[in-house]
Amino acid sequence: MASIHAHIDGTVVILGTGGTVAGTAAAAADNVGYSAAQLGVAQLVGAVRALAGLPLETEQVAQIDSKDMTPALWHELATRIDVHRARPGVAGVVVTHGTDTLEETAYFLHRVLSPGKPVVLTAAMRPATSLQADGPQNLCDAVAVARWPGAGGVVVAFGGRVWAGSELRKVHSYRIDAFGSGDAGALAVLEEGRLRQFRPWPPCDGLGLAQLPKDGTWPWVEVVTSHAGAGGRGVEALVGAGVRGLVVATTGNGTIHAGLIAGLERARASGVHVLRASRCAFDGIVGGTADGWPDAGGLTPAQARIELSLRLLGATG
Ligand code: ASP
Repeated sequence: MASIHAHIDGTVVILGTGGTVAGTAAAAADNVGYSAAQLGVAQLVGAVRALAGLPLETEQVAQIDSKDMTPALWHELATRIDVHRARPGVAGVVVTHGTDTLEETAYFLHRVLSPGKPVVLTAAMRPATSLQADGPQNLCDAVAVARWPGAGGVVVAFGGRVWAGSELRKVHSYRIDAFGSGDAGALAVLEEGRLRQFRPWPPCDGLGLAQLPKDGTWPWVEVVTSHAGAGGRGVEALVGAGVRGLVVATTGNGTIHAGLIAGLERARASGVHVLRASRCAFDGIVGGTADGWPDAGGLTPAQARIELSLRLLGATG
C-alpha cells in the first residue's frame, strides 16, 4: 500500500465543465434547489486548502449542468485533454463534471483518447455551498490519482473510490455514494490519504478524434425502452423520421417485449442498426447474442448509444 503523498513530478491541469461540484444554493442545508455550474474551476480549486502549493493549472472548458452535455462539447473537451497531455511538464489531467452524464463522458473519453497520461474525472452530489459538500474531497482525490506513479487511462475519482471510466454507472439519484461499476467493482479506494489498488489501471487505446466531426453532428441514435405494454409505434415513427441507430434499453438480461420486437425487426430490415443494453441498475447483459440482436455487454443504455454512434461514424476501433 503506497502513501497518497507518493507522486510523480509535473503539473496537474484541472479542466472545469460545470456540474453540481460548481453549484450554489441560497441555503447551506439545500441539496436539491441549487443551481449547477455557478463557480469557476479556479475558484473551486482555490477554495481547497489541501491543494494549496501543488503544481496545478486550471482551465474553464465549459460551464454547464451536465444534463445538457453535447457531442460538440465532448469533442472540445477531448481536444483540450489531448493538448495538455502532450505538454512535457504535465503529469495528468483532471476534469470537473456533473454527475448526471458522468458515465457518458467517461465512456466517450475512454473510447477516443489515445494512450498517455491519466485522465481523472470527478464531480459532486452536493453543491459547493452545502454543509455536506463532497466536491473538495473528490477534487483532492482526483488530483492525487492524477499524480499517482503508474496511473493511466480514463478513470473517475468519486466518493473515496476510483472507477474505470468504461465501467462507470450512476446508481443513485441523491446519495453521496452515487456511483458503481456493477460486478467489476472499483479499481482502488482512497482511504486516509492512501491509495489501495485492487485492479490494474484501465488500458487507454482509444480511436483518436480524427474520425469524429468537430461540430458534434453525430448520426442520429435514439434509446427506446422495453417495458410492459411496449409496442412498435415509437420505433416506426423514429425510422420514418430518419433515425440511424436504436439502442434498446431492455428488461433484465437483454429481453425485449414481443410487441417491440416486431417494430425492431422492421427497423432492422430498413437498415437501422439495433443494439441492446440492459436497463438494470447494477450490471449489463450476460450471455452473448444468441437471439440475433447484438448487445452492449456491461454498458448502460446511455453508454451503448455512444458506442453505436461511434460505430456508425466508422470509428469502430
Ligand atoms: N445536474 C447536475 C449535473 O449533472 C447533477 C450533478 O452534478 O450532480 O451537472
